[in-house]
Amino acid sequence: MLEVADAREIVLSHAKPLSPVRTALTPDSLGRVLAEDVRADIDSPPFRKSMMDGYAVRVADCTVPVELRIVEEIPAGAVPTRPIAAGECARIFTGAPVPDGADAVVMQERTEPLGDRVRVTDTALSPGRNVMPRGKEMTAGDVVLSAGSVLNPVAFGVLASVGRAEVAVVPAPRVAILATGDELVEANAAPGPGQIRNSNGPMLSALVHRAGGVSRYLGIVRDDLGELRTRIGEALADADVLLLTGGVSVGKLDLVPGVLEELGVVAHFHKVRMKPGKPLLFGSRGDTLVFGLPGNPVSGLVGFELFVRPALRKLAGHADPGPMTATLPLAADLSASHDRPTYSPGVVEAGRVRPLPWAGSGDLRSMLMADAFIVLPPGEVRLKVGEQVSVAVC
Ligand code: AMP
Ligand code: MG
Repeated sequence: MLEVADAREIVLSHAKPLSPVRTALTPDSLGRVLAEDVRADIDSPPFRKSMMDGYAVRVADCTVPVELRIVEEIPAGAVPTRPIAAGECARIFTGAPVPDGADAVVMQERTEPLGDRVRVTDTALSPGRNVMPRGKEMTAGDVVLSAGSVLNPVAFGVLASVGRAEVAVVPAPRVAILATGDELVEANAAPGPGQIRNSNGPMLSALVHRAGGVSRYLGIVRDDLGELRTRIGEALADADVLLLTGGVSVGKLDLVPGVLEELGVVAHFHKVRMKPGKPLLFGSRGDTLVFGLPGNPVSGLVGFELFVRPALRKLAGHADPGPMTATLPLAADLSASHDRPTYSPGVVEAGRVRPLPWAGSGDLRSMLMADAFIVLPPGEVRLKVGEQVSVAVC
């Protein structure tokens, strides 16, 4: 049976970054990956800028105490009208251009106003004090953000400062989600005899959103060949990724693999040596990736974190698809015995990972606190507090 690492390689080999699009810098573009190098169009600051409210002076004049004549007032947004000569200064405000001749700004707290003159009391003045040189942050032509950078809020600010209201980015993958199973009803319905609520639909929609995808939840499909053909066919038509849950195992009513094959989806693997989540199907049709996740919610969650999220990240242009792995000491003893490599829930706290009590793949509630999976080797495992374990962070 295929190992997790090999299965992930196969998934990633089919996930190609999506073609770039131009986008406005609205909060919806947060987290997108930049698809072009962006250069500064002007120097920043575009002039020698005062960093304080105070007085623009010549340091050579300022052997304290000294009185200087105020020749003009320069608020932010104004420009100086004349240079500063010996014995002179200009009243200046934060963000305003420093006049020629002046080589420092004395903050106003270190002065005493005397009408049209000012007494300077600053004993620590040196050239350049409180003045940001032109082009200190960036000069015209500098690459300020390179292709592959992730647009975080600071990037929005930097892009605006170089005059960019639109940029080329790798778009968010569009992910269609279908839940399959005769037993399922939606959250707003009371389950009848033998029925359960569909927890995978809402959970997967949220996982997709958190992973940077655009989710389109398409509802529940019955375990019925005709219905599955129609609904899966429609879903495949307009998605970068199709996520199906349920019906991918080997039971008589696990109809999804056969229907996918009929619809031209090529299966690349259909089982992974892991617990939970062994009966995971991955296939593709053209550029559309298809994941058949097992119906058990925890199996679906683990399958998503190990395979779907890395695929979404790669489609979205991220250099590192993840998942992030780490080696951490255990915060408590952990004993287990499984026939396959097992992903057991844990919570990271103060640099250690605490195993969470867990009743198996049907127990979604125990995963509420989990932010990591402890990777346990197959066989008898008896680990003591403080022993190092490898974890996949989710
Ligand atoms: P299956 O993969 O169809 O064999 O389903 C495995 C288990 O997961 C069964 O107990 C199903 O009832 C349950 N299950 C399937 N789909 C969902 C869903 N969308 N939400 C919650 N549980 C599900
Ligand atoms: Mg089923």
